[in-house]
Amino acid sequence: MNKVDVIVIGLGSMGGAAASALAQRGHSVLGIERFWPSHDRGSAHGGTRIIRQSYIEGIEYVPLLRRAYAGWRELEEQSGRSLMTLSGGIYIGDPEEQTFTGALAAARHWDLPHEVLTSDEITERFPAMRPAPHAMGLFEQNAGFVDPEGTTAANIQVATMHGAELHFGETVLSWTATPGGGVEVVTTRARYGADRLVVAPGAWSQQLLGEVGAPVTAERQVVYWFTPDVSPGNPGHSDYSVGTQPVFIERTDGNRQVYGFPIVDGPAGGIKIGFFQDLTPTDPDAVNREVLPFEVAEMQARALELFPHLTGRLLASSTCLYPSSPDDHFMIGLHPEHSQVTVATGFGGHGFKFVPVVGDIVADLSTRGRTDLPIDLFSLEREALRR
Ligand SMILES: Cc1cc2nc3c(=O)[nH]c(=O)nc-3n(C[C@H](O)[C@H](O)[C@H](O)COP(=O)(O)OP(=O)(O)OC[C@H]3O[C@@H](n4cnc5c(N)ncnc54)[C@H](O)[C@@H]3O)c2cc1C
Repeated sequence: MNKVDVIVIGLGSMGGAAASALAQRGHSVLGIERFWPSHDRGSAHGGTRIIRQSYIEGIEYVPLLRRAYAGWRELEEQSGRSLMTLSGGIYIGDPEEQTFTGALAAARHWDLPHEVLTSDEITERFPAMRPAPHAMGLFEQNAGFVDPEGTTAANIQVATMHGAELHFGETVLSWTATPGGGVEVVTTRARYGADRLVVAPGAWSQQLLGEVGAPVTAERQVVYWFTPDVSPGNPGHSDYSVGTQPVFIERTDGNRQVYGFPIVDGPAGGIKIGFFQDLTPTDPDAVNREVLPFEVAEMQARALELFPHLTGRLLASSTCLYPSSPDDHFMIGLHPEHSQVTVATGFGGHGFKFVPVVGDIVADLSTRGRTDLPIDLFSLEREALRR
């Protein structure tokens, strides 16, 4: 094929959004993905991803989240798909714990609509949950979840509609910056040239980004779907479902932080729950996809501390990879040695909700060399990334 303006490596969450944003701006785009569209080998599968604005991880993220929310609605319109459901979200913790205090700090700083609830008030409103008596919760109406597989499919659809050429089942083996300022990319099928390159390989960052990708570790994460016991006298099925139960994040009494989702798929569904951080670095090409009985037991025991009647069956479990940076902040910027190369990685366990705005940031950097959106926190040259 003829030389294109931009090659995008990785058509997962962020690469898909970048390909779509670049194609919409009129650039010729070649996207290369080793697996299939909306695959389950990386970071973007499992049906749901939390989206929220009272951001526990830092108030700096909030302007980007506001922009992302608008981007989600735009992507829904462009693709004709329903992607975002605002079910409400609750962040529960000890009164001095980050889960609660971080959310409260962001809500206050940016004047985001929210309600502070005591433990009893939480159970009154959301009967499936019974937090520790001293726990506090911040409830945010404007939170909920997005559909990861649907989002990737939507970005692929919009990119293609705008003329992008997307290859699946093709693995990038290497790329080089050419002396004239362009790039050359070698894959399992061919060799391609372009003026610019976007590298968004998620958990495979160490393989494709050399020293720049070295700080990114692939972490194995498991999510579980459990059914509740809805015998008479217990909270009913609807108490666990979208409409009543919000998405949740909880950490009380020094426990491991958990997060999860209401039942989204009717009477046969279950509550989806997982540990938020569970630092198990792994080789992304040799992930143990088997979930062991002790892992299930550990999760169920922890889940019962918040949902006392979540004693039903394990419906399913699924392994997923966090492409994590050492300080859990994203890594977005121009490659320090090759300004024709834009890097987008390190999204860890909290990047998905930013997909549309990351697409815009990457398209800005790749075509203009700069962006007006606030991304200082994500610098590729920050101290925390140096070992
Ligand atoms: C269990 C779990 C729960 C999560 N929950 C949330 C949540 O609730 N809210 C939230 O905001 N975020 C959440 N996240 C985080 C979020 O999903 C990730 O941060 C995000 O998906 C990362 O996007 P990415 O584009 O970097 O990676 P990916 O989406 O994995 O995309 C990278 C792509 O690059 C491709 N690739 C790699 N190497 C090559 C190569 N050599 N050649 C061609 N293609 C290549 C891969 O196949 C992949 O498709 C969660 C993640 C997990 C695993």
